[in-house]
Amino acid sequence: MNRKEQIEKLASIKEFDICIIGGGATGLGIAVDAASRGCKTVLLEKYDFAKGTSSRSTKLVHGGVRYLQQGNIKLVMEALKERGLLKKNAPHLVKNQSFVIPNYKWWENSFYGIGLKVYDWMAGSLGLGPSQFLNKEETLALAPNLDQDGLRGGILYHDGQFDDARLAIHLAMTAADHDAVVVNYMGVEGLMKANEKVCGVLAKDLVNGKQFAIKAKAVINATGIFSDDIAKMDDPNAEPLISHSQGIHLVFDKEFLLSDTAIMIPRTDDGRVLFAVPWHNKIIVGTTDTPVASASEEPIARKEEIAFVMQHIHRYLKKDPSYDEIRSVFAGLRPLVKSNSKITAAISRDHHISVSDSELISITGGKWTTYRKMAEDVMEIAVYKAGMDEKECKTRNLHIHGYKETNNYNEPLYYYGSDKSEIDKLIKADASLAELIHPLLPYIKAEITWAVQNEMCMTVEDALARRTRALLLDAKAAIESAPSVAKMMAKEMGKGEQWITQQIDNFNSVAKNYLPTSNPDLSGQALKPQTSN
Ligand SMILES: Cc1cc2nc3c(=O)[nH]c(=O)nc-3n(C[C@H](O)[C@H](O)[C@H](O)COP(=O)(O)OP(=O)(O)OC[C@H]3O[C@@H](n4cnc5c(N)ncnc54)[C@H](O)[C@@H]3O)c2cc1C
Repeated sequence: MNRKEQIEKLASIKEFDICIIGGGATGLGIAVDAASRGCKTVLLEKYDFAKGTSSRSTKLVHGGVRYLQQGNIKLVMEALKERGLLKKNAPHLVKNQSFVIPNYKWWENSFYGIGLKVYDWMAGSLGLGPSQFLNKEETLALAPNLDQDGLRGGILYHDGQFDDARLAIHLAMTAADHDAVVVNYMGVEGLMKANEKVCGVLAKDLVNGKQFAIKAKAVINATGIFSDDIAKMDDPNAEPLISHSQGIHLVFDKEFLLSDTAIMIPRTDDGRVLFAVPWHNKIIVGTTDTPVASASEEPIARKEEIAFVMQHIHRYLKKDPSYDEIRSVFAGLRPLVKSNSKITAAISRDHHISVSDSELISITGGKWTTYRKMAEDVMEIAVYKAGMDEKECKTRNLHIHGYKETNNYNEPLYYYGSDKSEIDKLIKADASLAELIHPLLPYIKAEITWAVQNEMCMTVEDALARRTRALLLDAKAAIESAPSVAKMMAKEMGKGEQWITQQIDNFNSVAKNYLPTSNPDLSGQALKPQTSN
């Protein structure tokens, strides 16, 4: 997948069937669905693929045990089915993750145990393994750093885990494999209309400022937290579609888990859900659910959110991490379907599709886990609008780019799937590419070269935040690696010293917000109780 070729193709096509605005989970899923149905498809992303919410999730492909507690059976059933399909179609990217729910109260074992048996039953043949009741010793064997004081036992259950930004890149590649045009750094700045109906978009290449008028039979707004901006391009008086809710995660070294089993706290004293999940040899802990007034492409964790996660994880662990041991802090904004509820955690995670009077199609809400079903649902409307409703959805059994039947998740570079052999070839041609980009990061130089050559990696931030996940794993190490990564990229892309300096500055201004805040004096300032994720 090469940006120059994609733009040449974009310029050569007179009219597309489907134009998608936004390259997160939702937009990329739609591009895969549309292109695999045989529609002439274009996807335009203003920044980088998954720059928005889709690189900032808890990294779970899950039915959502919490939604079961809330009684949202439809969402759980749908998400469990999608979890199974994604595991089948992208086994190189989705693994089976075991979780322990520790129980400290007498009623918890049977309450959560029965709930999880229902969860297993709902997953049916697409289940990832049966849940089990555990006694205290079995619980501690799986989660040795749990606080033993008052521990009665636990429940073991299974869900899926993935690398969100990597799946996004592989979805972009899948769409391109099926002949879609996918372009990053191409922002939509206006809509074209004929006879009061939307018939295309006006877009600007943010790399060189070139403008494009792109015609399409159907235009889909899949811009997540920015959906209202696009809706206003259509109708300045459009009612808001979205509520924003921020969730943050803290990243620690794996020594605070001491195993490969994740911990799920189903209801803390404050009524929230908290996960501590192993990921790329670190653990990520979160999340929060804080209503925020406006959208930002680079949301920043608040001190009180960091304090909240720290206070709660300290309650459940024997060996507690300190503020100085936080390796990275990342924040994301949920694009929740607008509701009258003041508590964002109570707003449904279902998706919603609307069609304006001028036939702009908008899709909002949903989850990473359900991106395929969201795409199928919105495409049923879009193909009808485009007069192509004979074209059927193919994604239920469609392999995602890099598909490999057998995968060893302990092997380095496993997440590239079948592309790994191409990266091995780069190393064979130049052995220095096998060197790490930083002693504390699990990424090698060949991954940067591969990303520039094949994954439309345009900036140092793309390389360190989304093609590799360096910024999320260890923000300080990522900042230290930026100068050498910038030099490597400049060589590959034919750029000079000025580009290198600019890239390092740009990266540092984003990355500083991922550095842990040292000891904020916030003890006792818990956020209002809500449930999260
Ligand atoms: C803290 C947190 C944890 C979560 N954890 C999970 C989880 O574990 N599992 C799960 O299934 N789900 C999870 N989710 C939900 C999931 O991450 C989101 O539902 C999903 O990523 C939303 O994707 P999206 O494509 O709709 O939005 P986005 O990813 O935000 O994509 C929208 C894109 O549109 C682009 N855009 C905006 N304006 C324009 C324009 N004018 N022109 C072109 N492009 C534009 C943006 O740059 C952006 O890339 C979590 C969410 C949060 C916040």
